[in-house]
Amino acid sequence: MKFLCIGRNYADHIAELNNERPDEPVLFLKPDTALLKGNAPFYHPEFSNNIQHEVEVIIRISKEGKYIDPKFAGKYYDAVGLGIDFTARDVQEKLRGKGLPWDIAKGFNHSAAVSEFILKEELGDLNQLNFHLNVNGEKRQEGNTSMMLWKIDEVVSALSQYFLLKKGDIIFTGTPKGVQAVKTGDKLEGWLEGTKLLDFEVK
Ligand code: MG
Repeated sequence: MKFLCIGRNYADHIAELNNERPDEPVLFLKPDTALLKGNAPFYHPEFSNNIQHEVEVIIRISKEGKYIDPKFAGKYYDAVGLGIDFTARDVQEKLRGKGLPWDIAKGFNHSAAVSEFILKEELGDLNQLNFHLNVNGEKRQEGNTSMMLWKIDEVVSALSQYFLLKKGDIIFTGTPKGVQAVKTGDKLEGWLEGTKLLDFEVK
């Protein structure tokens, strides 16, 4: 499996990083070795002093497809969850400043924390999902999928123009504002529509 991701998909997060609002979706991948599941602890790697949490709605691909039209995108995923796109911001900024690819800042081991999935039928309108992340009991990030610049079906469509989507692939749909560095001992808890899905520690 692979992780397919979109960056800069919430206007408030683009503003907090002083990034430009993109004309086209900013797409990137993480390898399967990025997977962190079952609310296992996240071990802070040593190569960065600024690993930031990005809480995101994630979706699970249930059917192989490419060149998918947004209006048929719903046939290609069956479930929704919550993930953390861990990002080594210091590494990313250094590489980006030199115009170099920033794969290592996003794709390092265990940089993709994923929750259990909820079948989409149980969630209602996927363009109106509330989610939030608490760190040590304090709310850090809060979003609603209605605030996405590219909605879920458009993200699926955009990714499928370049990458064959395969059953079991997971899509990260972007983060709202409030990203901050994590440190050893932090407790991360995430909710999707009132259901607690993420609950793990940074070690
Ligand atoms: Mg992200």
